[in-house]
Amino acid sequence: MQTQLADWIRATPEGVEAEAILRKCVHCGFCLATCPTYSLLGDELDSPRGRIYLMKQMLEGAPVTERTQLHLDRCLTCRSCETTCPSGVEYGRLVDIGRDLVEKKVPRPALERARRWLMRHVLSSRPLFGAALALGRAFKFLLPASLAKKIPERRDAGAWAEAKHARRMLALAGCVQPSMAPSINAAASRVLDRLGIALVEAPSAGCCGAVTFHLNEQQEAMAFVKANIDAWWPYVEQGAEAIVITASGCGTMVKEYGHMLRGDAAYAQKAARIAALAKDVSEVIAAERSRLPKVPARRVAFHSPCSLQHGLKLNGVVESILREVGYELTPVPDAHLCCGSAGTYSILQQDLSQRLLESKVKALESGAPTVIATANIGCLAHIASAASTPIVHWIELMGSDL
Ligand code: SF4
Ligand code: SF4
Repeated sequence: MQTQLADWIRATPEGVEAEAILRKCVHCGFCLATCPTYSLLGDELDSPRGRIYLMKQMLEGAPVTERTQLHLDRCLTCRSCETTCPSGVEYGRLVDIGRDLVEKKVPRPALERARRWLMRHVLSSRPLFGAALALGRAFKFLLPASLAKKIPERRDAGAWAEAKHARRMLALAGCVQPSMAPSINAAASRVLDRLGIALVEAPSAGCCGAVTFHLNEQQEAMAFVKANIDAWWPYVEQGAEAIVITASGCGTMVKEYGHMLRGDAAYAQKAARIAALAKDVSEVIAAERSRLPKVPARRVAFHSPCSLQHGLKLNGVVESILREVGYELTPVPDAHLCCGSAGTYSILQQDLSQRLLESKVKALESGAPTVIATANIGCLAHIASAASTPIVHWIELMGSDL
């Protein structure tokens, strides 16, 4: 695609990057077939190609309006289009640049700004989210059914394996996961323990920054990124082999730390090292799986989060581990499509999110599994609100069955 970026953006790092991405797009439209919002709405402007066109117009100096913002807001950032694109268009990176610019040019109404502020501050704070969840659970009976079903049941944390091995890895605790499902990292510690790896958490590490970043406060998100780098760095210097992440959405973010801080003299090198050490838990297990024992047979439907298959490009890795240890995977039609969780999307775009959720639950339950497994806390909570089949993180399943 030919481009003629406006003077105000052309020579900036974002302009240079956006232009390189735009020029790869040949407008073939293959990506439309796998875009969830295009399949629901049928509007070219709610497709990857349409959104790319809107961003190109903006970067070339055309006026930016609420219409541009609406179509970018409706994008799930699922990056299914990236997987489909034959030209290697990095849509996810382009939409990050585009949204940041739109946010600065199109002010949101006061109520909307307040709602986004509240989400950023509550969801990314472990103590605040923990308190909000405890309140929600205590007064669940007072809430409307539509809200009550979104509050997950309390889960037993389970035991952490003692850190007794010379091989040591760090675990990202994150922000919402410790309150919603502390059992996930505990299960990861037990599975890794069987493989001779000790898993430890750095107490002062927190939210990976994705919530804030994807609410278009990209500079504010860098405070979370830097705080985590500072928290992990002493462990890295002491020989931690990897930073293990059990939420694929957070993994996608941490692997971008190097790119995000590439222009920061104080953090660029450390951020690149942290990003290189970041591993989804499936990558660690896949490298060692020949040493795992077999599990009792169970029929499992695996929901592969978009962040796992399109963001981290780890499509099929968890599925192959689950099969190899003895689970029977049931068929899941349209497994490439988003469940509608997508970070804060399920709160901000409720109608589209619910439509995607209904289709996803139907697809997951179509093979009559006894349990659904997934790899991201957001998808887990979202699917749990509508599924009649129990849902767990796949590492919890292995942690309890091994
Ligand atoms: S598939 Fe790729 S090259 Fe084709 S229109 Fe979509 S983004 Fe552009
Ligand atoms: S990221 Fe997902 S929703 Fe957004 S344009 Fe690409 S396929 Fe469509």
